[in-house]
Amino acid sequence: MATKPHPEQCETEGRVCVFFDRDGVVNRAPDPERYVTRFEAFQLLPAFWQALSAVREAGAVAVVVTNQRGLATGLVASSELERMHQHLVESAAERGLEILDILVCPFDDDQHPWRKPQPGMLLEAARRHRLDLARSWMVGDQESDVLAGRQAGCRTVRLLRREEPSEADVVIRDEANLAETLRQCLAEGALKGAPNE
Ligand SMILES: [Mg+2]
Repeated sequence: MATKPHPEQCETEGRVCVFFDRDGVVNRAPDPERYVTRFEAFQLLPAFWQALSAVREAGAVAVVVTNQRGLATGLVASSELERMHQHLVESAAERGLEILDILVCPFDDDQHPWRKPQPGMLLEAARRHRLDLARSWMVGDQESDVLAGRQAGCRTVRLLRREEPSEADVVIRDEANLAETLRQCLAEGALKGAPNE
């Protein structure tokens, strides 16, 4: 006799997520180059591991969302990008940390729904993993990250290394403060999401 299939289980259902922009947040910004084109130039920032620990301590999950137009223009080989991201995931695992997903926008089209400031990558990650966008946060070093986060219904942290206006909910000047900032953001988020409020 055929049995009714169980509804699909998803262990991240309703979880809070911290979306991380990649270049300048996870790894050193590609300066003076505009893109990280080679694996050897992909240098992970120690502050990112602290931030990822704060995410784990809060019971949230982490997703990386990155515009990589260089894939479309041929500046970045997909094999190099895969090496970088495999290294990122493995380096996290060595520290007992986890990156739930990495979404890449390879398109050279500013209007593409996945290309930040459009929110497509965040929306897709939320769909895949059934994340709670309203209690989630987007962290980035460009205003396009902030706009993508806001359009996805998240709150935002901008790592702003120069003087410039920002619409972000929280602005920090130094990546060394990111972990503590996220601890505070996620604690507030937990309170706002509590059912008795
Ligand atoms: Mg960036």
